[in-house]
Amino acid sequence: MKTKTTHLSCACGAFRLEVHDTPIISAECHCKSCSDAARRLETLAVPEAIRTIHGGTRYVLYRKDRISFLAGAENLREFRLGPNASTRRVLASCCNTPIFLEFKGGHWLSLYGNLWKQNELPPLELRTMTQDAPDRASVPDDVPSGALGTAGFYGRLLIAWIAMGFKVSEVAVEGAIDA
Ligand SMILES: [Zn+2]
Ligand SMILES: [Zn+2]
Repeated sequence: MKTKTTHLSCACGAFRLEVHDTPIISAECHCKSCSDAARRLETLAVPEAIRTIHGGTRYVLYRKDRISFLAGAENLREFRLGPNASTRRVLASCCNTPIFLEFKGGHWLSLYGNLWKQNELPPLELRTMTQDAPDRASVPDDVPSGALGTAGFYGRLLIAWIAMGFKVSEVAVEGAIDA
């Protein structure tokens, strides 16, 4: 069976990656860390706004074993919210395109939705942490959110991890970026 391959790149094209098969989930996060990080990263010359009009950040989560970096990985730089933050966000420093969010020990990468052309972005399936949204009323209820959304989110992650045989790999990133 032939699986689908999607080619993605940073805004300038120096960093390229491909993802195979289907994502774990396509989601929008409203947690405080994601909005703080987006606000700080948006002070750099990012190619486009990181947050959606509702203040959330779009991510497409893929199993790490379904992601391949093709070129320009030496441009990747990590950004952390604080010195002790275990979560990191990784940018392509060639053009400041946000690439992914990685949790320490995580078996997946949350790729930033910005990597897809708007009409090719996998459709939104759920929203997480909408209770943190500064203006909850403006966030639409077209997909599951709140407790239901969060349960679905962790359920999908667990199913993927089981399918991977509980294996976790680290992504090598050289250098850091401050914002
Ligand atoms: Zn670039
Ligand atoms: Zn978040």
